[in-house]
Amino acid sequence: MSTSAEIEECPRRWALGAADYPALWDGRGYPPRLQLTALAGSVVHLALEIITKQLKRAGAPSQDHPRATQVLKELGGYTNIVQECVERILRRFADNPRALPLLEHARRTLRGQVPTLRTRVQAMLARLHLPSGASTAPSASDSTGQQPPRRTPLTNGTYPEVELRAKSIGWKGKADLLVLSNEACEITDFKTGSADEAHKFQVQVYAVLWRLDDELNPTARVIDRLVLAYDSRDVEVVPPSAEEIDALAKDLLARRQAAEAALAARPPAARPSADACRYCSVRHLCDAYWTGAAQAVSDDGRFGDVELRIVRQHGPTSWDAVVVRARELSANTPVLLRLQQPTTFKPGTGVRVLDGALARDPEDATAPAIVTLGAFSEAYRVE
Ligand code: SF4
Repeated sequence: MSTSAEIEECPRRWALGAADYPALWDGRGYPPRLQLTALAGSVVHLALEIITKQLKRAGAPSQDHPRATQVLKELGGYTNIVQECVERILRRFADNPRALPLLEHARRTLRGQVPTLRTRVQAMLARLHLPSGASTAPSASDSTGQQPPRRTPLTNGTYPEVELRAKSIGWKGKADLLVLSNEACEITDFKTGSADEAHKFQVQVYAVLWRLDDELNPTARVIDRLVLAYDSRDVEVVPPSAEEIDALAKDLLARRQAAEAALAARPPAARPSADACRYCSVRHLCDAYWTGAAQAVSDDGRFGDVELRIVRQHGPTSWDAVVVRARELSANTPVLLRLQQPTTFKPGTGVRVLDGALARDPEDATAPAIVTLGAFSEAYRVE
């Protein structure tokens, strides 16, 4: 999701996620949660980036080209590339206190998925055809994916991970692959999740950014092909015409200005909704979430978010509590809170549980509900 779309959906979430938390860690923003599905997608994406850059360097237009065989051999083969990408993606979480308890589990899970991830990478690469002679083009990014300090007009060639900047409207974005030739001006974006209408808009925005990027594209050349490359198929998106680009640019400028105004409010507005809050990684910090009725519960009702007030210790790792707020449990419902390790609470302490396992005795409506913290649950004291 673009920054602008994120701010539009919930300015409070963006502000809480982007603030500094020096007491927690040295990283930027609030430490993100580890999401296994997203990690697998990141591994595929990174493998595609690495291979595409090396195919370009070798001037191999596709993975079937004789020079591609040498490229893949130098990289150690597909399985090795994917394994290396698993480690590189997990290293991004090495300093994340929220992810640390799950890193080994994530590593084992992703390693078990390497054959599937490898197949996904191969399937997407099989449909990729770069213009021959692409290796002669200067690169828009260095081998680490960082932009060089000077941004100069791009000539014919293939440009993986190219950052597009439209200074006139204050937008920028990174396109996965830009291909320029005498015949074509194309952007391909690799998508590792399921198809979504928002993806079409995203690549159309890239077409706008390319056209308005007066450093990389001073002649204002227009994109003539946009491709969304999913695991099993490519989806062509109609590129916007020059007139449509002008209209889109006005719209994007207005959206940026509205986003800036939303963030200038103190505090930025919270916009709770089931869809927005379910995957919000700062929802434990958001009072609007806990005073509303949008607390997350899984479709089968077995997992969910609950705010509790501690009453007394029950056992070495369990506490008697009552519900303060939960979507499917009334306030003051007695609860047995089961933790994974001994923890000390004072009676009256508030605790917000994210993704706890929820259970009730179907035979006894008076028995306390049971909230159990598992590997993917989190619990936060309410200050
Ligand atoms: S929990 Fe919902 S309302 Fe609160 S910041 Fe997150 S998305 Fe916004």
